[in-house]
Amino acid sequence: MACLASHRSGESSNQRVLPTWWPSKRGPRVLSEKAAEPAVETQLAASHISKYFGGNKVLDDVSLNVRKGEVVSIIGPSGAGKSTFLRCINFLEVPYEGSVSLDTLTISVVNGKLRNSGKELAALRRKVGMVFQSFNLFPHLTAQRNITLPQERVLGRSRREAEQRALNLLRRVGLEAKAHSYPSQCSGGQQQRVAIARALALDPQVMLFDEPTSALDPEVGTEVLAVMRQLAEEGMTMLVVTHEMRFAQNVSDRVLVMVDGRIIEEGSPDIVLMAPQQERTRQFLKAVLRE
Ligand code: ADP
Ligand code: MG
Repeated sequence: MACLASHRSGESSNQRVLPTWWPSKRGPRVLSEKAAEPAVETQLAASHISKYFGGNKVLDDVSLNVRKGEVVSIIGPSGAGKSTFLRCINFLEVPYEGSVSLDTLTISVVNGKLRNSGKELAALRRKVGMVFQSFNLFPHLTAQRNITLPQERVLGRSRREAEQRALNLLRRVGLEAKAHSYPSQCSGGQQQRVAIARALALDPQVMLFDEPTSALDPEVGTEVLAVMRQLAEEGMTMLVVTHEMRFAQNVSDRVLVMVDGRIIEEGSPDIVLMAPQQERTRQFLKAVLRE
């Protein structure tokens, strides 16, 4: 198949010139250890999510279970409902129907009406970190303050404790030197790494990423992808909407293909990206690989 051949050859030739911190495949040892685990612990479950905008059904009965430490990439054409699905998981959008469970907490919606209290909703949101395409940092606050403010507001941490955590996280994403810089003094890639640190500062159990590198130059995007790869290796549960096929291939445990508000195909990256079952997936991959 043409798209498989071009994907394979594209990847191997790229890997020769990429820096050593480019997202690389998790070792087969780790994958086989995972596969041998007897109990599969679901950490996040989205069940039967439907969503309308006006009369438009943009999510049609979408369900997804994510295991603890699993990295799931969601790919698919523009307008498929990928962002809306992520936003429904942390209730930035309220679905029309469905439920989201994280650990022992389940938030349900029936006929557009939330069945849970605001307190329960806030508890779920606190456990789900989100990183957007457009960073969404406060422009009038330094990188450090962007990270400390939510900790103080949401978790009630003291300024001192929040600063300590912010500095540790800035170090982790390679930006300690930017602690006192404003977003306008940071590159796009640096701003996105601050945004990741901000989300991590709230100790989320799951991280959602919505095309975190698509507003960045490819070279700068690799810095962000490297931080994401590191997070994945540290065992963070991650749901990543991405157009970065190499990230989907090399870092995720599973790839989902979303088209017209439904998941049309899912499986290991090797199967979905190299030998997709659905013609629509093949079409999409061909288009993406031509870009
Ligand atoms: P994707 O992220 O896969 O590109 P989206 O989730 O952004 O897709 O959008 C899915 C569909 O929902 C699209 O048709 C889009 O135009 C529509 N849509 C998204 N957000 C809104 C909104 N706030 N109001 C009305 N329609 C929306
Ligand atoms: Mg989107």
